[in-house]
Amino acid sequence: MAVQKKEFAVIGLGRFGGSICRELAQLGMEVMAMDIDEERVNEFANIASHAVIADSTDEMVLKSLGIRNFDHVVVAIGDNIQASILTTLILKELGVENITVKAQNDYHEKVLRKIGADQIVHPERDMGRRIANNIASNSVLDYLELSDEHSIVEIIANRAISGQTLQALNVRARFGLNIVAIKRGREIFVSPGAAEPIQMGDILIVIGADADIDRFEQFLA
Ligand code: ATP
Ligand code: ATP
Ligand code: CA
Repeated sequence: MAVQKKEFAVIGLGRFGGSICRELAQLGMEVMAMDIDEERVNEFANIASHAVIADSTDEMVLKSLGIRNFDHVVVAIGDNIQASILTTLILKELGVENITVKAQNDYHEKVLRKIGADQIVHPERDMGRRIANNIASNSVLDYLELSDEHSIVEIIANRAISGQTLQALNVRARFGLNIVAIKRGREIFVSPGAAEPIQMGDILIVIGADADIDRFEQFLA
């Protein structure tokens, strides 16, 4: 991925925060890893650009680390919701530009939204939904929620549609869906035209309303 070099701070080095920290380092980013737990911090000494033992609910500590100058701060404190909220509040007050926070539950999320977290993530819930959708359906391989009612899904083409063109299937008119790309083995056809015949096993990348996607799935079943 072509990315501009930025400075990040990750607070809380559990599985989630730790994974973000590793990935950012892998992407060549400057990343400061912070945790209150010394052992956790030691694990990141050779991974992050800086690894610091600190309590992020201590405003003076965050100030002295110059937290305001980081492009993006991730708060990945898990079980201690109070610490997560307080940390976010302090980051906000210190003027941090971009704050991403991991929410533990819906109430936590609500509070984070109120105090102005820029991005709230819910990894366990979202991954759970994604996997549920995947295993509940025979045709959906993956999905990305765009809103409460719209998604992008990967649908595998079966006998019901193989050999037919998009025009013959009339996907847009009949289902209100757009096929934005077709993956065939290692190839990918972006914006396929109406004359494109679908082959068995093609992976269709489909965008649309969930209700329309459901109808298309029924059609395939
Ligand atoms: P996982 O991502 O593995 O599910 P979790 O979010 O459940 O982890 P926790 O162990 O609850 O993990 O919290 C993540 C990290 O946040 C821990 O390593 C913990 O030490 C750290 N942490 C908790 N409070 C603070 C704080 N005030 N300042 C800095 N780090 C903290
Ligand atoms: P429309 O009047 O629906 O915009 P169009 O003028 O773009 O269609 P074509 O591009 O020839 O006409 O496509 C004919 C039909 O084939 C479309 O109405 C649509 O149902 C289907 N189709 C073509 N391409 C796609 C696509 N990428 N995704 C979904 N359906 C498609
Ligand atoms: Ca956890």
